[in-house]
Amino acid sequence: MAEVKLEELPGVGPATAEKLRDAGYNDLMSIAVENPKTLADVADIGESTAVKIIAAAKQAADVGGFESGDSILERRKKLNRLTSCSKAFDELLGGGLETQSICEFFGEFGSGKTQMCFQLAVNATMPVSKGGLDGDVIVIDTENTFRPERIVQIAEALDLDPIETLQKIHVARAFNSSHQMLLVEKAQEIALKTPIKLMVVDSLTAHFRAEYVGRGTLAERQGLLNKHMHDLLRFADVNNAVIAVTNQVAAKPDAFFGDPTRPVGGHIVGHASTYRLYLRKSKGGKRIARLIDSPNLPEAEVVITVSEEGIRD
Ligand code: ADP
Ligand code: MG
Repeated sequence: MAEVKLEELPGVGPATAEKLRDAGYNDLMSIAVENPKTLADVADIGESTAVKIIAAAKQAADVGGFESGDSILERRKKLNRLTSCSKAFDELLGGGLETQSICEFFGEFGSGKTQMCFQLAVNATMPVSKGGLDGDVIVIDTENTFRPERIVQIAEALDLDPIETLQKIHVARAFNSSHQMLLVEKAQEIALKTPIKLMVVDSLTAHFRAEYVGRGTLAERQGLLNKHMHDLLRFADVNNAVIAVTNQVAAKPDAFFGDPTRPVGGHIVGHASTYRLYLRKSKGGKRIARLIDSPNLPEAEVVITVSEEGIRD
């Protein structure tokens, strides 16, 4: 699907292709799902041309096409596993975090969600033989908690060159929820040049939660979160990458849930996440990680530690 260039679509010359790219249409799918009027405006073309381009993009991107079971099996053969540096935690997930999936970490403030993201970011840069994904990493930081100093500590603990590791981690601060969603598109642009094997969104829900307050805004919030989750899942599929996101628990009862230990975003986030992990503090540097719901693994929990070196058993 990603093999077909925009210029190969009928009606798209170099000038139109450039306008489309400037407007953020970098792949066929983004064109395939656009409406003709918007595309016509963006690319300075007639609406009938836009209709033809969209139809061709739909065909090339195979939108709405069904996939046979054996081709899904073929795609799943490319799945890789990313280690967390905790053997117990990896086993909880059936051998590490799976590519082509979203892994959600939720828990209270200080439960270790961001530390886990730092560890995964370092690990993803390692060779596959060491449990890494041999790729670069995108971090979408919404709470300004990315600390390069922690990456250095965690990389040194694994005998990795800390500067080389930092060079492979691309960090963007998201200033609000729509900026956060836009950054996923930008990430796809970077991924065309550099293989991105992990995308971290820390925190997935904080901006949404702060911006959409009150009952009247819930439907809109959930709709946007739904789109965001699907954009992330698509990034995971297209790039054979892991997506790791963090989520808060609703400290005071959310309009959705009376239960104060439920993650924000409710079923929208829950259903799009392939793995959902609840982190909570225990004694010392210990944390308990509980696998809440997975399509093919039993609910269970393990103990991990957070130290200067990062995550360990
Ligand atoms: P959150 O779930 O809110 O993202 P964090 O992942 O930031 O929480 O976890 C913060 C905790 O991680 C601290 O309370 C501390 O226990 C631990 N931590 C952070 N940095 C270090 C470090 N350099 N050495 C040991 N533990 C650390
Ligand atoms: Mg955090």
